[in-house]
Amino acid sequence: MTAKVELDKDTVLITGGAGYIGSHACKLLKSRGYKPVVYDNLIYGHREFAKWGPLVEGHLEDRDKLNETIEKYRPSAVMHFAAYCYVGESVTDPGKYYRNNVAGSLTLLETMRDYKINRLVFSSTCATYGVPQVVPIPESHSQNPINPYGWSKFMMEKMMSDFSHAHGLSFIALRYFNAAGCDPDGETGELHNPETHLIPLVLDAGLGRIKHITVFGTDYDTPDGTCIRDYIHVSDLSDAHLLALGKLEKNPVSDAFNLGNGTGYSVKEVIQTAEKVMGKKIPVVYGERRAGDPPRLVGDSRKAREILGWNPRYPELEVIVRHAYQHRLKVV
Ligand code: UDP
Repeated sequence: MTAKVELDKDTVLITGGAGYIGSHACKLLKSRGYKPVVYDNLIYGHREFAKWGPLVEGHLEDRDKLNETIEKYRPSAVMHFAAYCYVGESVTDPGKYYRNNVAGSLTLLETMRDYKINRLVFSSTCATYGVPQVVPIPESHSQNPINPYGWSKFMMEKMMSDFSHAHGLSFIALRYFNAAGCDPDGETGELHNPETHLIPLVLDAGLGRIKHITVFGTDYDTPDGTCIRDYIHVSDLSDAHLLALGKLEKNPVSDAFNLGNGTGYSVKEVIQTAEKVMGKKIPVVYGERRAGDPPRLVGDSRKAREILGWNPRYPELEVIVRHAYQHRLKVV
C-alpha cells in the first residue's frame, strides 16, 4: 500500500537525467520553470551533468527507492530516459537489456500507477522499426526490431499502451533517430564510456586521441557505399520533450512521434563535415560492416512538427558537429 501524495504540477521526475539526452532536457525544463528531479544510478550517467535539480542515486528496479523519491518530491510527470543503449551489447548480453529497460521500466510504470502519476514522456527509438520498408520512415511503419535493444524499447511502448488502457496513463513515445551534438552553451554534453558513436569518435580521431576512425562498411546500397543516418541535435530533442509534456498537460492522449531532421548523411559525409569543422584531415580506415546496421535510417517527422509544433533549431549537420566538437575539446 502506498501513501496518498499530493503531486506538484511543476515537478518532473527525470530518470537518466545525469545522462546525455536527459541532462540536456533538465537544463531546458529548469529554464522553463519546471523543477526537474534526477533519478539515475550513475552507471553511465555523470554526477556533474545533474545540476538543474536534486539528484537521487537509484536503480529503476529499486521500488522502495522510487517510492521514497516520489513521496519526497511529489512529481506529477515523468520523463523516462534511463536505459542501456548499446545495440551490440544488447545482442551479446540481452538479459542486461531486458532486466533494466523492460523490467526496470515496468517497476517505474507500476510505481507511477500506485501514486497516480499519469503523464509520461518516454525515450523510444527508430530501432523499434527494424529494417525499414520505406524511407523516410513514418510512425505508422511496422515495428519489427532486429536487436534486443530495439525490442526492449518496443516492449515498453506496448506496456505503456496497456497501462494507458487499464490505468489512465497518458504517454508520448518519442522515437529518436541519431541523437548528436551538444548544448551550444557547453553546460552539459556527451560522455559515453565506452564511446561507440560515430561523431564523437570521428572527432577523437581528428584530435589524435584515437589512431583513426573505422568506417563500418563501404559496400552498402547507398550513393557512396556507407550507411546513411538522420542526425538530430540533442537540444532539438529536448525541445520535443518539453512540447510533449505540454501536450500531455493540455490533452491527456497517448501517441508516438518520430524525431529526426528527415535528411540523411552518410558516414563519409559526417567525416567530411568534421574535417571542415576541425580544419584538418581525419585519419580513416575502411573496415567491415557492423552487424545489425541497416543501410539507411531517415525519419519522417512531419507528425511532430504538425501536432507538437516542433521545429528543430539546429538541423544543419555542420552545426551539430561543431557543437559536439566544442564539448569534445573540453573532455580529457
Ligand atoms: N559508424 C562507423 N564507425 C564507427 C561508429 C559508427 O562507421 O566507429 C557508423 C555506423 O555503422 C552507423 C553510423 O556510423 O552507420 C552511426 O552509428 P552510431 O553508432 O553513431 O549510431 P547508430 O546508428 O548505431 O545508432
